Amino acid sequence: MANDLIDHMLAAMPLPAVMVDQSELIIAANADALTLLGPNLVGRNFVTILRQPQMIDTIEQGLKDRASCKTRFLSSEGGQDTTYDVHTRYVPAVGSGSGGALLVSFNDRTQLEQAGQMRRDFVANVSHELRTPLTALIGFIETLRSAARDDEAARDRFLGIMGDEASRMNRLVGDLMSLNRVESQERVRPEEQVDLTALIGSLLNTLGPLAEGAGVVLQPLVPETPIVVPGDADQLKQVFSNLIENAVKYGGSGGRVRVELSKSDRDPAMRGPAARVRVIDEGPGIDPIHLPRLTERFYRADSHRSRELGGTGLGLAIVKHIVNRHRGRLKVESELGQGAAFTVSLPM
Ligand code: ADP
Repeated sequence: MANDLIDHMLAAMPLPAVMVDQSELIIAANADALTLLGPNLVGRNFVTILRQPQMIDTIEQGLKDRASCKTRFLSSEGGQDTTYDVHTRYVPAVGSGSGGALLVSFNDRTQLEQAGQMRRDFVANVSHELRTPLTALIGFIETLRSAARDDEAARDRFLGIMGDEASRMNRLVGDLMSLNRVESQERVRPEEQVDLTALIGSLLNTLGPLAEGAGVVLQPLVPETPIVVPGDADQLKQVFSNLIENAVKYGGSGGRVRVELSKSDRDPAMRGPAARVRVIDEGPGIDPIHLPRLTERFYRADSHRSRELGGTGLGLAIVKHIVNRHRGRLKVESELGQGAAFTVSLPM
């Protein structure tokens, strides 16, 4: 096969690929291979480029046995580890002396690996979150059956704790189901027209008793006129309810939570008209090191406080997915001791 033709064929492949001949020289490489492995590959011995032992063994074996082989190649791009499935196929009548050559192609499976890792982490997290209340329940059932059997006061106290633990599990399962529903709808654009002015007004009424119980004043700054966005009313209610509940729960010590609704004809982040809802508290705030990860499932800035207050660690993950579904933006601004501001922008 003429070298030009080999080059054209490699260039047409949608994967990084190189060709290695019987004298172990790289005789062709496409542009994706140069990006992956570095420039000036052609004419060099493959061992000087692909130094990983399993790569060397696989290519040597492929050349010797003229067989198809498979192995893994590990690399790192932009500070991130990447994993490739490498396939070799023997191509006869190519290369010097027509001894044939080996086509070596690289298939990036990093995203698959990451998805697998995320799934494993998720299952481990859910099991861990469920185990704590379950262990408590099993322990108390045991105690009620034995030592506390005839102790009415202890029985009442234990039943109270058991009720709290069961509610915690119930909230967790509820949030997991919400997250699942929201994720499965993420690509379906909502079509209702939602009046945010009315929605936030009714939400503030609903959450009034919760705030009052925590000694927090809810201060709305909401226009009189309707601000309407395309959206899913139930999901948007969940977004603002999660944010306001968090502000009361974590930022309540500041004594007040501001809830502001406004609209802009040209929001810089949305590149067009947008509605903006801000939930601002004056509590202890969040250390900025936590901000980039705050919307990850089960991520907690203050783990002890979240658990003490019955948090599931899923509230902001649900918020992020709903905002994504609405093609909106969530911005979190906070500093320790300075309160926190959560801003949701929604295209109109
Ligand atoms: P949780 O169920 O733990 O409340 P969320 O996903 O709603 O989970 O929030 C994640 C974490 O972000 C919380 O555990 C808490 O540490 C932190 N957080 C959220 N809102 C605030 C806030 N207004 N002030 C301080 N910390 C907050």
